[in-house]
Amino acid sequence: MRKPIVAGNWKMHKNIPEAIELANGIKRGVLDLHNLDIVLCPPFTALSAVYDIIADSNIQLGAQDVYWQEQGAFTGEISVGMLKDVGCRFVIVGHSERRQYFFETNETVNRKIKSVLRANIIPILCVGETLPQREENKTLEIIKEQVFGGLKDIPAAEAEKIVIAYEPVWAIGTGRNATPVQAEEVQKYIRNLLSEMYNTSIAEAVRIQYGGSVKADNIEELINQPNIDGALVGGASLKEDSFTQIIKVCAKGEN
Ligand code: PEP
Repeated sequence: MRKPIVAGNWKMHKNIPEAIELANGIKRGVLDLHNLDIVLCPPFTALSAVYDIIADSNIQLGAQDVYWQEQGAFTGEISVGMLKDVGCRFVIVGHSERRQYFFETNETVNRKIKSVLRANIIPILCVGETLPQREENKTLEIIKEQVFGGLKDIPAAEAEKIVIAYEPVWAIGTGRNATPVQAEEVQKYIRNLLSEMYNTSIAEAVRIQYGGSVKADNIEELINQPNIDGALVGGASLKEDSFTQIIKVCAKGEN
C-alpha cells in the first residue's frame, strides 16, 4: 500500500508574512492527519519562515527547484546543501514551467535528480505532455522520454524513493483537469515503464501524483484511481480551505 502524498506548489506567490499565515492555516486544518505525506513548497525566500512553523508538525518542507552543483560561481542558483540547511525534505524537479520558460531538458533534470538523491532529499520528478503532443498522439512517447531521461543511471535502490508527478501541461493552471481515465492511463503506463527499467516491486513502490487543475471538487475521483497516489497542487494550494480539503480527501479514512 503506497502512502499518499499531497504537495502544494506555491510557485512565485506569497511574501514572508503571507506564507506564514497560509502555513499556519494549513497546519491547523490538517492537524490530525497522519496517514499521508503533506508537503509545502513555498518560494525560496519563504522556506525558512515556513519551516519554523511546520518543523514539529505532520507537514514537510519542499523546494520548487535546485541546481546540481554543490557550490561555486553559479549566480542565482541554490544547491541541495542549501535546501537541507533550511529543512527541505523534498524538491520539485523538472516542472513544466521550468522546462518551458527556463529551458530545462531531460538531461539537466537527470543531473538535478542525481544531486538531490545524493543529499538524501526526495525529488518530485514532473513529467507531462503539451496539448499539441497529446493531439498528435505522442503522449506516451513523450512520457517515456521524460521518465527514462530523468531517471537515467539511477540505481533501483534510489529510484524507489522518488516521487513522480504526472502533470499534463495543458491542465496546469487552466482549470481543465485530465479526466480520471486520462490520468490513470498515463500513470499506469509510467508504472509499467518503471517495471521495465527496474522491476515490479520498485514500480509498485514508487508514488505517482497527478497534477493539473486539482481542486477540492475533482480530487476524489482522481485519487480513487489505482495508480494515482496523491496530487501536486498549484492554484488550489494557495488557499487554506481548498488545500486542506484536498488533503483530507487524499487521507481517505481519516476525513
Ligand atoms: C502545478 O503547478 O504543478 C499545478 C499542477 O498547478 P495547478 O494546480 O494550478 O494546475
